[in-house]
Amino acid sequence: MNNSLKVKEIIARGYINPSKLPGSDYVINPYVGCPHRCMYCYAEFMKRFSNHDEPWGTFVDVKIRSTSTRPINLAGKNVFLSSVTDCYNPLEEKYELTRKLLQQLRYSGAAITILTKSALVLRDLDIFRQMPDITIGVSMNTTDDLFRQEIEPGAASVLNRLYVLKTLRENGIRNWMHVSPLFPHFSDWKALLEAAAGFTDRFTFENLKLRAAALPRVLLYITQKHPQLKELYEQIYRQNNMDYWRSTRKEILAFCNARKISAAVHFSEKEPQE
Ligand code: SF4
Repeated sequence: MNNSLKVKEIIARGYINPSKLPGSDYVINPYVGCPHRCMYCYAEFMKRFSNHDEPWGTFVDVKIRSTSTRPINLAGKNVFLSSVTDCYNPLEEKYELTRKLLQQLRYSGAAITILTKSALVLRDLDIFRQMPDITIGVSMNTTDDLFRQEIEPGAASVLNRLYVLKTLRENGIRNWMHVSPLFPHFSDWKALLEAAAGFTDRFTFENLKLRAAALPRVLLYITQKHPQLKELYEQIYRQNNMDYWRSTRKEILAFCNARKISAAVHFSEKEPQE
């Protein structure tokens, strides 16, 4: 973990919030901020709501307690962890907030979905085994660990993420690979499907969407490190040309249909919501 990370313990108004994400009724974000420092991070807008002016990725607020005593009936509801942080970021090792929340949710009757880029999720296998309706997704968009280090420096390596999928499968926990965000040119999704064969049988795909500070950051990276791709990225992200995504969607669906691979492609220009 980054040693200069600023960590603050805070008291939250509540852990569980209504969600506008498709398929989720509620969302839980036990932390504000995320030390994974993904170059394209969708959650940076949270700075506005948390009185931080430091660069995103350099601070984390830890919701050590909540003032809310209002019970929420979660029976039959879909609860998602997490939308604006990784609930298994390295601070979870010390604070165990996600673990404690899952212990409380165990018998709630809710369907729990976790999405992570961290191998720490395997620590909680003992709880997952006691949960009747839990699904765990691992986000990844490359099999090239050098590229992964450049764009997601704080997250788990490619091999560790594949190991997470494999271990979840071996322990009978429902899992899936979230192939996301697909970076034009870089994300070899066929290689990812091949690498995960036998570890999961469900794949979802999401395209790279760039908002606010992430747009100039990624375009600068492309210009400096991969200038031959500058035109492609400008077409997509400055001129809003969706041809690349239309053809990629077709190719993914044709490839997966031919092999009877369960695949859902969620490509859009909409901004993510909490
Ligand atoms: S894991 Fe998610 S919240 Fe964390 S930096 Fe990456 S994109 Fe942002």
